[in-house]
Amino acid sequence: MSKQTARCGGGRIKKVFPIDKLTMLKQYFGHAQFRPGQEELIDAILSGRDVLGVMPTGAGKSVCYQLPAMMLPGLTLVISPLISLMKDQVAALEQSQIPAACINSSLSLAEYDEVYRRAEQGAYKLLYVAPERLGTEDFLAFVRGVQVSFVAVDEAHCVSQWGQDFRPSYLKIRDFLAGLPQRPVVSAFTATATAEVQEDILTQLGLQDPVKVVTGFDRPNLFFDVRRPEKKQPLLLSLVEARREQSGIVYCATRAGVEKVCDLLCQQGIPATRYHAGLSAAERRPNQDDFQYDRKTVMVATNAFGMGIDKSNVGFVIHYNMPKSLEAYYQEAGRAGRDGEPAECILLYGQGDVTTAQFFLQQAGENHEALTPEQAAQVQYRDQLRLEDMVAYCKTKACLRGKLLDYFGQAHPAACGHCGNCRGEFVTEDITRQAQIVRSCIQRIHRKLGYHVGVSLLTKVLRGSRDRRVLSPRPQPPSRAGAPLPSPPRTPAALPR
Ligand code: ZN
Repeated sequence: MSKQTARCGGGRIKKVFPIDKLTMLKQYFGHAQFRPGQEELIDAILSGRDVLGVMPTGAGKSVCYQLPAMMLPGLTLVISPLISLMKDQVAALEQSQIPAACINSSLSLAEYDEVYRRAEQGAYKLLYVAPERLGTEDFLAFVRGVQVSFVAVDEAHCVSQWGQDFRPSYLKIRDFLAGLPQRPVVSAFTATATAEVQEDILTQLGLQDPVKVVTGFDRPNLFFDVRRPEKKQPLLLSLVEARREQSGIVYCATRAGVEKVCDLLCQQGIPATRYHAGLSAAERRPNQDDFQYDRKTVMVATNAFGMGIDKSNVGFVIHYNMPKSLEAYYQEAGRAGRDGEPAECILLYGQGDVTTAQFFLQQAGENHEALTPEQAAQVQYRDQLRLEDMVAYCKTKACLRGKLLDYFGQAHPAACGHCGNCRGEFVTEDITRQAQIVRSCIQRIHRKLGYHVGVSLLTKVLRGSRDRRVLSPRPQPPSRAGAPLPSPPRTPAALPR
């Protein structure tokens, strides 16, 4: 039997817990031991310290607040951005005999009242709530009547304008905490946060002298690769064919892409199913279950799929299109190999992906009315920089794992030996002389004609062609030189996610 002390606000609450944390871990969560970082965070919370936990997807974040919630007196509030995520977590907790509920906009008035009433009676240890709810009168009245000893902020990167998925409602958390009769222990968790975002989380949530645990971002069992095929479909087919025995996810940027790729795989006799926000709930759920229980081995989906999915034996994640940021990529690719077995993360890059990503960013920019103009400009600027980092990853010839770890601020060796680029055969060649010849040719043509020529004519000149245009070039620029610039690339005709 162990004794733990929890600090709430100014006072100290002594509480004797019936079982120790390791027994609780086994009994309620089914794990024999803690994973890296978990115990340090749990001990800090139980001793009354604020914490920030940055742990990659699959590292066991939720246990870090669910277990202390069981051991601390009173109620724990978990602030979470997505209704689907809340529901999944509550369902999983109920299965483990942990009393939990959620408050979100999908409840009826009668259901709200029921949850509040039961919470006031102490029926729950954890209550999940959306950040928008915190400022409402009914919720404020409710929390004044219960003992909130602990608040866990999930997906804490949403509080940062520097992070992906910035949500202005997260900025209200700090005021909400300040308005509570007693300040609870506060914890913040995220799977992906650069050093800059981590700092912002600490400030914006007002964490007090927090214990910060950043577990390594590296997932050594994952093999990263980027392919740049002329045509994506045949390559995708051969990749999936070669992995027929495995379970895998194929991410597409658009709903239309999901439909097309899923049809393609099914036509080849590959047991594939699909998931995107355009499908009815009646179709999404069984599709998800088919994949979860291995009735269908391949899930083709937009980024709407994955949050709260806990399938451990995903052998590969193929991105048919480039995501809009490395955060998004690492989160989605990270759904591979959660069982620790070797798994592959392959990205198929095409120039058109940049146009699609730009289109989504532009569209997101138009939906920023909840932000001040300064916030919106800032968010758009950061999104653009993130996209550039993503493109740089697709184009680099350096170690891919190294690129990812650099991005998240983690030190690493120059080459991992276990990614497409480390294994690939790039030959570095000095082409200074050739470049000088090309440059000099361009300059001489311009001096002679008074205008620049296109790549094809330049190539002919360099190759010593006897083409008529080379032997007797026109003294005046071709008429289309004065034509307006080509129109910008078309926006993709596909639906947004
Ligand atoms: Zn490498």
